[in-house]
Amino acid sequence: MTAISSPKPAEQLRQQLSQRTLKHFIGGEWQDSASGETFEVHTPTDNSLLTAAASGDEHDIDRAAQAAWAAFPAWKALDGKARRKLLYKVAALIEDRAEELALAESMDTGQPIRFMKSAAIRAAENFRFFADRAEAAQDGLSLPADGFLNYTIRQPIGPVGIITPWNTPFMLSSWKIAPALASGCTVVHKPAEWSPVTATLLAEIMHEAGIPAGVVNLVHGYGETAGRALTEHPHIKAIAFIGESSTGSSIQKQGAATLKRVHLELGGKNPVVVFADADLERALDAAIFMLYSLNGQRCTSSSRLLVERSIHDDFVKKLAERVSNIKVGDPLDPATEVGPLIHPRQFEKVCSYFDIARADGATVAVGGERIGESGNYVRPTLFTNARSEMRIAQEEIFGPVLTVLPFDDEADALRIANDVPYGLAGYLWTNDLTRAHRFAQGLDVGMVWINSENVRHLPSPFGGMKASGIGRDGGDYSFDFYMETKNIAVNLDGRGAAKLGV
Ligand code: NAD
Repeated sequence: MTAISSPKPAEQLRQQLSQRTLKHFIGGEWQDSASGETFEVHTPTDNSLLTAAASGDEHDIDRAAQAAWAAFPAWKALDGKARRKLLYKVAALIEDRAEELALAESMDTGQPIRFMKSAAIRAAENFRFFADRAEAAQDGLSLPADGFLNYTIRQPIGPVGIITPWNTPFMLSSWKIAPALASGCTVVHKPAEWSPVTATLLAEIMHEAGIPAGVVNLVHGYGETAGRALTEHPHIKAIAFIGESSTGSSIQKQGAATLKRVHLELGGKNPVVVFADADLERALDAAIFMLYSLNGQRCTSSSRLLVERSIHDDFVKKLAERVSNIKVGDPLDPATEVGPLIHPRQFEKVCSYFDIARADGATVAVGGERIGESGNYVRPTLFTNARSEMRIAQEEIFGPVLTVLPFDDEADALRIANDVPYGLAGYLWTNDLTRAHRFAQGLDVGMVWINSENVRHLPSPFGGMKASGIGRDGGDYSFDFYMETKNIAVNLDGRGAAKLGV
């Protein structure tokens, strides 16, 4: 394992975090929980105490929802240009603090620092992208009819709840908060309890940028208390959620009594399908990157690798060599490629699949063990000789663990690729043009990349089908979620209604 190369700024930040309790941000003020309760936040490098956070419950959520409710009319009425200007300011401040954000994210989540600065920059891009569309978000259609003009406008739905997970939490929070604010909604954000640090920094940044009090509120806390209360609050009109499929299902139930609109971005078990005719060097790079970058904790990670049988052994040999070489170490070391897993519970979950794989008859070709005695480090792992029905090929493990499955022909590949409960993303490697399109259309997923890793295009729809979610993010799709479409019908020819009671 490698050591930290530039400990100084990290040490300073660590000291600052150890001296503060992360508070809620409600109605423009930093607040403790009504109950006075806090919870501990640990760093995955050795599970030592990093900081503490206020532990919110239904009383704190109520204060935040009331603040978002009170701030909504003025924020909704602010013109798009003014909202754009404020969101641009947020983006600029994120860029100014990108180093600090990257460091904080690495310490809090175990994500390697080499990926975290670009994640912070992507968050700034999200704010700018939606800022540029704030003015036109209300635009609608003109639908002329006989004697009538129908036209539509979009209006913000109201205060919304945003519930985010612990993987790349800063970037994912921006992805939800930016379009919500651009469309004129006010927000109550409940970040994941395992990674609350950068959500606090984002609230600080938005406050400093001049976002008015109550427009964005932050409540820390556990899913079952703060999260649940947010999904049940009557002032909250919609919930944008990113997390596990089972939690998404609970959120739908919890929100049913108040008829919440929900957008669910959930788990994945995404196939990467490599045909013999592909550019195998690039396919190898992409398969490795999409699984082992971000510690394998990426919803769109290519966690099931399907390789055509004629090239399987050779491809897997090269893959195994590369996986054995992946550098595991301190997330703050720029050389580190895989850091520790976020929490002992997630660590135990990932490690449990090493035994499951062996018991089910798969081969642990690389890894399959923890590293060291402290911290949540696991050796990057490769399972071979697997079959599609095995748990390692069906369940979202969410760690640096890849399962390889051979296939015989295109039909076999499509059958295996679709043979999972999830349907988020698929990756396809072939130089056969017609097969590429045919196969992409046959995949039961929300997004397909052909001859590429996941390269995000902000106007394009992002989201999954089956157990991977409901709804789409990105461009106008985000506005559709955060806004109501209203139809206005104007009579043009003065016709009267049929007369009753004459
Ligand atoms: P999780 O479902 O455990 O938690 C996500 C959030 O939900 C947390 O803030 C948690 O406190 C909250 N929560 C938990 N129970 C709740 C309840 N009953 N009511 C309201 N809120 C509740 O997910 P996680 O383990 O933090 O994140 C990892 C998961 O997120 C993986 O499954 C991953 O695939 C998924 N994910 C999906 C996408 C996507 O775009 N599809 C992106 C990133 C992560």
